[in-house]
Amino acid sequence: MLHCSKALTALFASATTFFAIQSQDDLLGYQDTPVLPGTKWHVHDGLRPQPKVVTPGAAGIASTAPSDAVILFDGTSTDGWTGGPWKLEDGAMVINGKGAVRSKGEFGDCQLHLEWKAPTYGDAKGPGGQGRGNSGVFFFERYEVQVLDCFENQTYPDGMTAALYGQEPPMVNACRPAGEWQTYDICFRAPRFTDSGELESPAMATVFHNGLCVHHGRAMDGATGHRALAKYSAHGPTGRIQLQDHGNPIAFRNIWVRPLEPAQ
Ligand code: MG
Repeated sequence: MLHCSKALTALFASATTFFAIQSQDDLLGYQDTPVLPGTKWHVHDGLRPQPKVVTPGAAGIASTAPSDAVILFDGTSTDGWTGGPWKLEDGAMVINGKGAVRSKGEFGDCQLHLEWKAPTYGDAKGPGGQGRGNSGVFFFERYEVQVLDCFENQTYPDGMTAALYGQEPPMVNACRPAGEWQTYDICFRAPRFTDSGELESPAMATVFHNGLCVHHGRAMDGATGHRALAKYSAHGPTGRIQLQDHGNPIAFRNIWVRPLEPAQ
């Protein structure tokens, strides 16, 4: 009887742990997805450690563009973009459910600056997880740096603010609260392919979120996917920059890009 009771207690304890983990998974992510190469974590693993929260300084907000930048959005017109069209409001372009926008220009290796602001919900709690201020910056319309409001809002770390979505969480969580402007400064190196379409060198991303380096020359695993391992498929040397419409009214402003070329 004693043994039976011990066994029942052990069973109950393991069941409690099991259901605790399951409910955390449900809240934060998945564990029925492939394991990311070189890690012990699944794609969108809810148990992957949450990056440390760091309060950013005031770096980069409303900074002016350098003289050699291509201005993609200066607050007055969305002419630099196709798709959408998004709403022009108070010097920002705002997601309105009409679909993604893509830059008319194409870029390869480049430095991108943009500012974004997640919506507030007043006294209401608002949506959580991936439903809270979701958008994304896609190079070549396929390599995503995630936009999400992760200020006191947790999700699976490889899908949080400034994550290389589905691949790598940011080193720290540098979010400002919803309703405040935030900056991304991204140096992107385009992947190279051989003439026969084999990957020669992967895409690389260095990302600053609100002035904090959150990815430092991180190789990307391939085109962004959901619940799947990223893969490459060959493409040309330049592509459009795309901003995602995920149904949340994120505002963007002050978007400029500098094509990067090595010194002679
Ligand atoms: Mg996104």
